[in-house]
Amino acid sequence: MESHNPVESKKSSCSNASCCAPKTPIIRSSPKVGRNDPCICGNGRKYKKCCGKNT
Ligand SMILES: [Zn+2]
Repeated sequence: MESHNPVESKKSSCSNASCCAPKTPIIRSSPKVGRNDPCICGNGRKYKKCCGKNT
């Protein structure tokens, strides 16, 4: 008669991230700002010449 404690194995049944990926929304670092608009960081440059050139 086996009496294992089932609480010990009460972890996530799947540790494979590609199988059961967490539901995290894709947050892109590109807010709604036009490329010719002033940059969101507020240094006075155009977005495409500042933070926008990385995206
Ligand atoms: Zn910027």
